[in-house]
Amino acid sequence: MKHRIVVLGAGYAGAFAAGNLARRLSPADVEVTVVNADPVFVERMRLHQFAAGRDVAFRPLTEVFAGSGVRLRVARVTAVDPERATVAVTDEQGGGANGEGEIGYDTLLYALGSSVADHGVPGVAEHAFDVTGRASARRLRERLAGLGASGTVLVVGEGLTGIETVTEVAERRPDLSVALAARGELAAWLSPKARRHVRRAFDRLGIAVHEHTSIAAVEPTQAIAADGTALPAEVTVWTAGFAVHPLAAASGLAVAETGQILVDRTMRSVSHPDVYAAGDAVHAIGEHGQPLPMSCASAGVTNMQATGAIIARLTGREVPTVDLKYFGNHISLGRWDAVFQMVDGEARARSWSLRGRATSRLKAGVLLGAGWGVAHPTFGMPKRRRRVVAVPERAGVRGAA
Ligand SMILES: Cc1cc2nc3c(=O)[nH]c(=O)nc-3n(C[C@H](O)[C@H](O)[C@H](O)COP(=O)(O)OP(=O)(O)OC[C@H]3O[C@@H](n4cnc5c(N)ncnc54)[C@H](O)[C@@H]3O)c2cc1C
Repeated sequence: MKHRIVVLGAGYAGAFAAGNLARRLSPADVEVTVVNADPVFVERMRLHQFAAGRDVAFRPLTEVFAGSGVRLRVARVTAVDPERATVAVTDEQGGGANGEGEIGYDTLLYALGSSVADHGVPGVAEHAFDVTGRASARRLRERLAGLGASGTVLVVGEGLTGIETVTEVAERRPDLSVALAARGELAAWLSPKARRHVRRAFDRLGIAVHEHTSIAAVEPTQAIAADGTALPAEVTVWTAGFAVHPLAAASGLAVAETGQILVDRTMRSVSHPDVYAAGDAVHAIGEHGQPLPMSCASAGVTNMQATGAIIARLTGREVPTVDLKYFGNHISLGRWDAVFQMVDGEARARSWSLRGRATSRLKAGVLLGAGWGVAHPTFGMPKRRRRVVAVPERAGVRGAA
C-alpha cells in the first residue's frame, strides 16, 4: 500500500509543500493529497490590492498542480483526529448527508494558515470587513465600489496589513475620506528613516491617522474608541490581529497559547510524530530563539523544513536543517511606493531600510516570485523520484509501526 501524505491547506506553505513532495518522492510509493477549501490559489499578499479594486487573477489549483501528481480535494476540513490518523471534511464527494467525508493519512502536513482575530471587540464580527481571505476581501471590494464620494473608511491596526490596506484604498479611491486607527504611534516599529517615509506617504495620500487610539466597538457607520470618541466609518476594515483556526487545538494536537501547533526543530508535532505543520499554523522557533512571525517568508522556511524532514525520514536520509531566519518586512504603500525594513536576530528594526519606487518594484517581483514558486517548487533542483525505504514509527501514538 502506498504511503499516504495529506497536506491540509494550499496557501503559500501547503501548495508549495504538496508540489515539492509529489515531485521528489516516487509515485510508486507515495500518494500526495492536498485538501483546500478554495478551488484557486489565493495569493494572500495581494488581497488588500484585490479588496481596493485592483485586478488580481486567482489561478485554479488544478493548473498549479498540473503534471505534479498531486491529488487535489476541494473540501473544507472540519476536524483532525490524530489518534485515528483521519481528517474529517465536507465537500461534494463526501458520502454523508451534508457532504461529510473522511480522509486517512500516514503523514499529515497541517498548513491551514490563519484568519482575522476580533479580540472580542463588540461589533467586529457583525460590521467590520477584513482582508484575510478571498471571500472577505471580495465583500470589502464590493462595499467600497458601492461607496459614494466622501464616504468614510477606517482601517484599524497599524501593522503591516493595516498600512498596506489603508495606502492601497487611499490611492485607488482619492475621493474617499480614509483614516487609520493606531494603538500606538504610526509605524513605531520601523527605523526612523523608514517611519518618516511612511508618514510622508500617508500625507501624500491624504490618510488621517488617529494615534494612541484603541477601538473598543464597531458600529454600522462608526467605530468607538476606548475613550468614547466616535470615528466616522461607513466602512471599518479590521486588520488588528490574526488568529489560527481552532481546529488544531480541538484535535488534541499539542498547541501553543496562540493555537499554533507545537513542533520540534524539523516542524514535526511534539505530540504526534506523524503530523507536521508549516506556515501561519506552526509555532516555529527561529534561529534567534523567538517564534517566527506569521509571514510568507516564514511559510517558505517552515514548509521547506517540514518537507525536507518528511522526505528524509521516508527515504532513510539525514534530515536537512533549513535556516529559520526572518530578514525583514517589505511593506507596500500603494502601487508605486514601498519600504523594506531589515530586522535583526531579535526581530527589531535595523537602521538600514530601502524606500521608494524601486522598492515597490522589488516587492512586485517578490509577489510574482512567490506565486510562481508555488507552481514550480523544484525549480533548479533535480526532480528525483526518491523511493520510500522506511515508514516512520508513530512512537507511542497508537502503538503502530
Ligand atoms: C492582505 C495581506 C497582505 C499580506 N502581506 C504580506 C507581505 O507583504 N509579506 C509577508 O511575508 N506576509 C504577508 N501577509 C501574510 C501572509 O500572507 C501569510 O503569512 C501567509 O499567507 C501564510 O501562509 P499559509 O500557507 O500558512 O496560509 P494561507 O496562505 O492563508 O493558506 C491557508 C490555506 O488553507 C485554506 N484553508 C483554511 N482553512 C481551511 C479549512 N478549514 N479547510 C480547507 N482549507 C482551509 C485556505 O483556503 C488557504 O488556501 C499578508 C497577509 C494579508 C492578509
